[in-house]
Amino acid sequence: MRMQDKNVIITGGASGIGLASAKRCLEEGANVIIADLASSEGSARAAELDSTFNGRCLFCACDVTQTASVDQLFDTCVTELGSVDAVFNNAGIGGIQPSIDVSDEDFLRIIDINLNGVFRVSRAAMRVMYRQGSGSIVNCASILGVFGQSETAAYTAAKGGVVNMTRALAIEAAPKGVRVNAIGPGYIDTPLIAELDKELVQGLISLHPIGRLGRSEEVANAFLFLASDEASFVTGANLMVDGGFTAGKS
Ligand code: NDP
Repeated sequence: MRMQDKNVIITGGASGIGLASAKRCLEEGANVIIADLASSEGSARAAELDSTFNGRCLFCACDVTQTASVDQLFDTCVTELGSVDAVFNNAGIGGIQPSIDVSDEDFLRIIDINLNGVFRVSRAAMRVMYRQGSGSIVNCASILGVFGQSETAAYTAAKGGVVNMTRALAIEAAPKGVRVNAIGPGYIDTPLIAELDKELVQGLISLHPIGRLGRSEEVANAFLFLASDEASFVTGANLMVDGGFTAGKS
């Protein structure tokens, strides 16, 4: 078991990549807290997993735009489970719109969830992990963290910020025994993509040399590696899980 008795927090764990990651961690022996908006289906999903995996999955309502909510999440994890061994900063929203139509509110909301939220959660994680002298933080970036795409200014800015913030945090946290890495998914078949026009999705598929969208489980496996002790000498990395999307572009 690659995650036996590890305590893992996954933000945005009610859906898509986060939910698949929760399942993979449970399969590998971890205790998992699914942290998601109270309005999400997280509590039902967590209850199903809890019953399948013998009481090892908990739901905690958390909004990553609210510092108090994030800090409460970590207090709950320490109180209920005793430690925080790995965190997946996975909560995020999409946003495709011509920049001239984007309101201040829309722009700031994407940045607040996709970038500031990652910082709030990482800060709370580092406070606990520094006391423990160990831990692994994994931040979900994107292919759009390293390349631009039309009509995604806020999303691209946020994900680019996540990639470079990951490097800064990794250097800062390394002497304390804490690793910080990012994952850069290509387009993955989740509810986030289901919102897009079918023709647009066909065009997106053609950008991946492997010739299909990715699956949530394929990103979950990358998270599992970075979260586990198998990645004990890996920090500050941005692991692309993108079916070759970025390979020809560097
Ligand atoms: P999903 O929409 O399936 O899951 C995202 C989850 O995050 C949802 O449960 C959502 O809740 C939750 N969430 C949204 N806002 C907040 C918040 N403020 N606080 C806590 N949770 C919140 O998306 P994916 O699984 O596709 O995406 C997961 C991550 O992967 C995101 O960071 C995304 O940017 C990234 N990614 C996804 C790609 C893809 O192609 N799918 C490609 C590259 C990166 P609700 O549904 O209620 O809004």
